[in-house]
Amino acid sequence: MNNFDIAHKLNNAKFIFREPIMSGHYVWRSSGINFVNNIYKILYNEISLVRNTKTIQCGSIVKIDNYINLYKEVSDYKNVFASVNFNYAIRPENTSVLLKALHENKDVIVMINTPLYRQFQSKAFLVDQRIWPAPSFCLSVNKRLLIHTIDDIMSHLNLFFDKMLLPYLWIEQKKGFKNFAERMFLPLMPENSKVLTIASTLYVLSGVFSKKLSTDEKIIQYGFSERLIYLYCVMQENKPYVVWPSGVATFDILISEDIEEHMNSYIEKTRYKVFKLNKTINKNTRIEDQLPIKEGYPIILFRNNNEIFYKLAFTGEIGKLTSIEMIKDLLQKSDSAILINNQTYFNECLSEYKVEFLCEKCENSLEGFASLGNCYPEIFSNCKRCGMKNSLKKLFLPSNTRSSINEKLINKK
Ligand SMILES: [Zn+2]
Repeated sequence: MNNFDIAHKLNNAKFIFREPIMSGHYVWRSSGINFVNNIYKILYNEISLVRNTKTIQCGSIVKIDNYINLYKEVSDYKNVFASVNFNYAIRPENTSVLLKALHENKDVIVMINTPLYRQFQSKAFLVDQRIWPAPSFCLSVNKRLLIHTIDDIMSHLNLFFDKMLLPYLWIEQKKGFKNFAERMFLPLMPENSKVLTIASTLYVLSGVFSKKLSTDEKIIQYGFSERLIYLYCVMQENKPYVVWPSGVATFDILISEDIEEHMNSYIEKTRYKVFKLNKTINKNTRIEDQLPIKEGYPIILFRNNNEIFYKLAFTGEIGKLTSIEMIKDLLQKSDSAILINNQTYFNECLSEYKVEFLCEKCENSLEGFASLGNCYPEIFSNCKRCGMKNSLKKLFLPSNTRSSINEKLINKK
């Protein structure tokens, strides 16, 4: 599974235009942006439960001065605006926007959602700026409450991943990137059947950022990008298209035009989309084989000989729809099948790795393996080699499956 395969799937879903505007830069279509906005809403609803406080949303315009000012003290963070000559920009890297909003609003969680299609109604804008999805949020927290808050956030992120049917393994990476973040928590997911990769990032930002905000508090930031969608696609490698989870897909159900009037009083308008069967071509093809399955909506309802049938896009199962109540069960059936598929894929990948209790010393001498970080939440036991008490459970990657992505993950020594 390579980038081209993923782009093919996303193009089938009508999320991106087929041809990249330049190598690797695909342009998102409105239905793709709507999908990302849907994911953002799910994240927003979860994160709103994190603390007994308000969650506010801010725009994504970056003031270049603020951006440069913020990053000039973070030497290991590449300043992408070093040579530009304009005042404002829109970029997926939006820490400076989040921090500004945090500075202006006390005791809130600030969230940002990069796709701007709804506000601007301009595809050209997206093309020009090469926007891609990068929702993120930021909050500041008293030092004493840091661990409690991280665990709280993580439990809500786990629920968010569960809704996305994404399996994950959290690690904390202790080394590297110190100027930017003093703690890094990374949910790992399969990049392919043998390699785990960073799916998104949860940081406790370094003291530089607290100083900028003139606060003693710690700043926590989480964000994901189109990578999360990419990784979801990876796990459905056997199909030329992807089926999305119910509630996450822009619509749960596709309904053929000729039965819509029978269904629309039963099904919530926002959860279905109507499609037209092209009857002029493929006269010899069965109706169930002509359905627009590649768009990835979980259920398709259609008529055949005056009866209403369903087809599950993921499993291909076809049957008669005998009652409207069946739909809820069918959605669950689709989600369960996808979850089993994804979990199996994840377990297969994880079996290439090693999880061991090892002390700091023994960690470095584990031959043929490189440490990726500590499993999180932290679990302690005796070191498997020397017996030292309170050794952490750690994740190790076999050296022979190293890839460029893994290199980024491996603890710098
Ligand atoms: Zn040891």
